[in-house]
Amino acid sequence: MNPELWLPDSDLDPAHREFAQRIRAFAQEKLAPHARAIDEQRTFRREMVRDLATAGILGGPLPKQLGGSGWSPLQLAIAHEELGAVCGNARGFCAVQTGLVAQCIAKYGTEAQQQRWVGPLVRGEAIGCFALTEPDAGSDVAALRTVAEQKPDGTFRVRGQKHWITNGGVADVMIVFASTDLTLGRAGITAFLVDTQRPGLRREPMPGIELGHRGSDHAVLTFDGFATAAAEMLGATGKGFGVAMGGLAAGRLSVAAGAVGIHRAALAEAVQFTTGRQQFGQPLAQFQMVQERLADVLTSLHASRCLVQRCARRRADGSETHADVAMAKLQATEAAAQATETAVMLHGARGYSSAFPVERLWRDIQALRIYEGTSMIQKTILARMLTSD
Ligand SMILES: Cc1cc2nc3c(=O)[nH]c(=O)nc-3n(C[C@H](O)[C@H](O)[C@H](O)COP(=O)(O)OP(=O)(O)OC[C@H]3O[C@@H](n4cnc5c(N)ncnc54)[C@H](O)[C@@H]3O)c2cc1C
Repeated sequence: MNPELWLPDSDLDPAHREFAQRIRAFAQEKLAPHARAIDEQRTFRREMVRDLATAGILGGPLPKQLGGSGWSPLQLAIAHEELGAVCGNARGFCAVQTGLVAQCIAKYGTEAQQQRWVGPLVRGEAIGCFALTEPDAGSDVAALRTVAEQKPDGTFRVRGQKHWITNGGVADVMIVFASTDLTLGRAGITAFLVDTQRPGLRREPMPGIELGHRGSDHAVLTFDGFATAAAEMLGATGKGFGVAMGGLAAGRLSVAAGAVGIHRAALAEAVQFTTGRQQFGQPLAQFQMVQERLADVLTSLHASRCLVQRCARRRADGSETHADVAMAKLQATEAAAQATETAVMLHGARGYSSAFPVERLWRDIQALRIYEGTSMIQKTILARMLTSD
């Protein structure tokens, strides 16, 4: 076993290597002991939120003046690879709490909104959710039908339904996207930053049992006369589509980095298992067909990490385009899905049981190919950029 081959450390300068090792140690100590249990028991662990806050991870990428740690995009990518390698639920929680909610407030919020919410989100005292997807508006977000109708006194009443909202059942604060004028299409979409503890909101768990991310909270949110006000808009009237796209474009880097973590964990498990398990009088890893698969998974891991870290570096120097993060997410999630498939296969029947972690990795990676823009949507973005003038 030669973990240096799959860990990112040898590609990093000493400061980033030390950073990766610090997050890795945290994940091993605080997340690894619970990763299997929360998946099997399908429980959202509030202690996980506290631990992530105490370690400074919830505030990681936020500016220091808002109580964050001012991580660079590369640090974010490194951290989310480390979290993803151990617990997809924790990485997914951070992606929503910090990546989608707190960072959107930091970017689009008024000073009053930042003062009210960023600190509690960073300290884990409040939980946030990002309520965009609807039953009839998934990839086609501009088709959303939730409305915010303005009353004569200037306040708004929200009506409509969102689903698949991570943290939706436990959130204290949400960014909800609603149309203030359906006739305007995407130009009518407005984002509101609201306290969830109000009448007119029903929160229910998603029906069925999720394939993966089973230690996360996913909810259906039904709004029926939920009151909000102009002062609670996040950004201006009709600018919500830009807020949503800005949040998702930023968040895709975390998803891509998390996929690299899952990929790496699948490889580590596959190497460990195939070097220990004997069949036909020798370790599985001595068979050429097994070796070929291990070599392919290692090579695609580094290809994914290169694209993720390239995107992070371009984000830091301001040269990032939509193509960079689209390629990173597409490559990293699809390659990780292939890696987990291989790892399950190489475990034989053991790969089919939660007694070994590879089936959880296989289940968890599927969502990363779907949320924050499916792989087909990433290809659509890339093809459009390639072929437009
Ligand atoms: C675990 C999990 C957590 C989530 N958390 C959140 C959250 O916190 N907040 C939130 O708002 N949403 C969340 N979502 C929802 C997620 O963002 C949507 O599921 C996703 O955007 C896809 O929408 P959809 O499921 O309606 O699929 P659809 O848009 O109906 O797509 C179905 C299929 O058609 C394909 N397709 C669609 N349009 C095109 C096209 N133009 N060209 C080619 N193929 C296309 C898609 O690629 C996909 O394969 C979450 C989902 C999951 C699974």
